[in-house]
Amino acid sequence: MTPEVLAEKIRQGDRRALAKGITLVESTRADHREQAASLLELLMPYTGNSIRLGISGVPGVGKSTFIESFGNYVIEQGHRVAVLAVDPTSALSGGSILGDKTRMETLSRNVDAFIRPSPAGETLGGVTRRTRETLLLCEAAGFDVIIVETVGVGQSETAVAQMTDMFLLLLLPGGGDELQGIKRGIMELADLILVNKADGDQQAAANRTVADYRMAVHFLHPRSRHWQVQVQPLSALKGQGVNEVWETVESYRKALSEADEIDARRAAQARAWMWSETADSLLTELKESDSVKALVHTLEQDVTNGKLPATVAAKKLIDAFRH
Ligand code: GDP
Repeated sequence: MTPEVLAEKIRQGDRRALAKGITLVESTRADHREQAASLLELLMPYTGNSIRLGISGVPGVGKSTFIESFGNYVIEQGHRVAVLAVDPTSALSGGSILGDKTRMETLSRNVDAFIRPSPAGETLGGVTRRTRETLLLCEAAGFDVIIVETVGVGQSETAVAQMTDMFLLLLLPGGGDELQGIKRGIMELADLILVNKADGDQQAAANRTVADYRMAVHFLHPRSRHWQVQVQPLSALKGQGVNEVWETVESYRKALSEADEIDARRAAQARAWMWSETADSLLTELKESDSVKALVHTLEQDVTNGKLPATVAAKKLIDAFRH
């Protein structure tokens, strides 16, 4: 199938075509990468018509329970929802934290939902790139709410915040962020903090946590002048607070769109992405060049033994690549 035909089918909302497109995007084969590039170029004019939501929280906080009830609710409101995941740990551990097939059962059966697990990848950069491209394909296929889920294990939150419009952080009742295992800096990424499991025995603790964080967010440096970070209680399990989350997403979108901030943010994200792609591709090319390969072993040894400063070794590698 030519990229033109595939692009047309994806635009018509053909799920098999979308899956095929994603397979191309995720492939590392050179010919696939080329086809993926043509496909993305053809589809670019049809992307961008969604709200892109990042969601994070430690394992067990209730992310999949929330995405399932939120996704179903949003679909009832007439939207189409795609759920993607960024999980760079899958390559290291052999098993993905986010890849469990039994998750989001009712949502995955919904014709207006599309759920894609994290691509396998050795580096966060690789996983991020493929997820960004998949996000664009889903938009072209008509999904207007895109959820990118990640897990609280460090750098992946920043990567997800850099490809989305709004970042939702799920917390548990009780305890500060350090106690909950939230990494430093993650709080600053949040546009909406949800204290989940606000039900049963944990209701009172959840209310206290909400009050604490409402105080605390005033001391955070806000990501936008046009938005005050919100803190809300939630019971993903009982579906309480789910419609309020969607209301907050809508008011966020309204506030930032009126200030032209969503477009400006996406433009800045695209420029940053271009440069990181350039850096990645150049590095790959450099590492594959014969003149560099001939030097790498010795230089690595010299740097390891402290014979050569890393900066000097780097310059030697670049010089070898240039000549
Ligand atoms: P994830 O690892 O963040 O995706 O968390 P899960 O969605 O798999 O939820 C972990 C556990 O917490 C499951 O046993 C859920 O049933 C439970 N859970 C999720 N949301 C709630 C909630 O709102 N209230 C209560 N009581 N339990 C919940």
